[in-house]
Amino acid sequence: MKTKKFRSLSFKLTLWYIVILGGIIILAGIFQYQSFKDSLLDELDAKLLEIADETYETWYRERGVSWEDAIQKTTSRFQSYQPLIQLVKLKERGGKKIEEVIHTTSIEEGSFLFDVRTYYRADRSDIDNLIYMTLSEEKLGSIPVRALLFPVRGPNIVQVGISLENTEIALRRLMIIMILAGGGLLFLASLGGNFIIRKALKPVKSVVQTAKDISADDLSLRIETGQRQDEIGELVDTFNDMISRLEKSVKKIKQFSGDVSHELRTPLTIIRGEIEVLLRKERSIKEYQKTLKSTLEEAAYLERIIDDLLFLSRIEGLEKKEFDKSVQLDEILLKVVESQELASKKKGITLDIKKVEPAQIKGEEILLERMAANIIDNAIRYTHPGGKVEVSLDKKDGTFTLLVQDTGIGIPEESLPLIFDRFYVVDKSRFKETGGLGLGLSIVKQVADCHGGKIEVTSEVNKGTSFLIRFPDVQ
Ligand code: ADP
Repeated sequence: MKTKKFRSLSFKLTLWYIVILGGIIILAGIFQYQSFKDSLLDELDAKLLEIADETYETWYRERGVSWEDAIQKTTSRFQSYQPLIQLVKLKERGGKKIEEVIHTTSIEEGSFLFDVRTYYRADRSDIDNLIYMTLSEEKLGSIPVRALLFPVRGPNIVQVGISLENTEIALRRLMIIMILAGGGLLFLASLGGNFIIRKALKPVKSVVQTAKDISADDLSLRIETGQRQDEIGELVDTFNDMISRLEKSVKKIKQFSGDVSHELRTPLTIIRGEIEVLLRKERSIKEYQKTLKSTLEEAAYLERIIDDLLFLSRIEGLEKKEFDKSVQLDEILLKVVESQELASKKKGITLDIKKVEPAQIKGEEILLERMAANIIDNAIRYTHPGGKVEVSLDKKDGTFTLLVQDTGIGIPEESLPLIFDRFYVVDKSRFKETGGLGLGLSIVKQVADCHGGKIEVTSEVNKGTSFLIRFPDVQ
């Protein structure tokens, strides 16, 4: 349960949200900290310049004032900053050397010094590029000192320093405030973010729950979409659509298996009944022969149903792209017509070929033969003696059109949408007479579909029916 929670989408999204927000807060914090530090140092540097300038001015303005006095005076004037002030006298000639260092007693001897080269560099600097440096010196204490090297006439350098203690305290305080505020902000934002993510993902939970509640026995459940127009709404709609389609196909399967059982049961009941009656007493040879003949007929009928069902299940799901061989539809059609000629003649029906153009399509011969045979066989079976059946195969605008027209009994308009359903027969009471199982047109439709063919049926009761199948001409 615990690991499930950590793997949940809302947990992952919240985690991402916290990581990204945390990153932004840290970056903003670093930027804020750095600019605050820069502004504190700028302020300090300005103060250092002011003190250095004041020291020089005091010495220069009041004639006769020694450097010691000037340093002393400025130190007490800027007492609140506790500045370290000293004058570093440089040798003018005879190598780079410090001649003398004048400072107050508060500075320990030699503790506030940089190397000689730095002083000579400072001597060459002007007001726009003065040297500011940070000095960490044990003798000055544990906290570094910010210093300015200010060149004055001589060559002399007025060196002023202020401890970075106050700056460090201010920066530390800022850091604590930022950590607390940033942490608090992150915590509150993640609570809020988690709340929003959970709210947004709530319908997903209901999808999961409904999916769990749905079983093959109850596919009537649907998920409430509300008025959502977002991605989740789309997901829910798709899911509901899928369930609807599933419900339809499960219904179809149930209906189909019910129909199959029924269709198989009827002839079996007849066989059983006839045999039971036959066995009740001694019968004559003739009676045995009659019953055996009748049960043989029923067995043949059963065999046809099973054959057709097997054929249907074999071709179900076949797709056009699976056929890589080309076949001559015209030749197949002529072969089928030839095989049906005897049956039509027997029934007194004229079977005519109007026009057959060469037609090469990608497909399987056995399937196409069965398709054509079923349509022509129907046309003969549902046409009264003296009637006519016409067959043609045309090529027009890149399509081959197979047409089978009869002058038979026709199909009522309300039955037209149903004739391709399995076990559908228009007139059940006449099925013995016509020998129909209601599977022939299902096979026709299936074969046409998997060859990319489109079927059109037009019919008028007592006038006739025409079956037209268009095949795309793809070579
Ligand atoms: P069947 O084996 O009963 O012929 P089909 O699936 O081939 O089954 O046809 C379904 C139903 O469509 C038939 O029962 C029949 O009523 C009707 N039908 C098919 N073809 C024709 C036709 N040419 N003329 C009239 N009715 C037809």
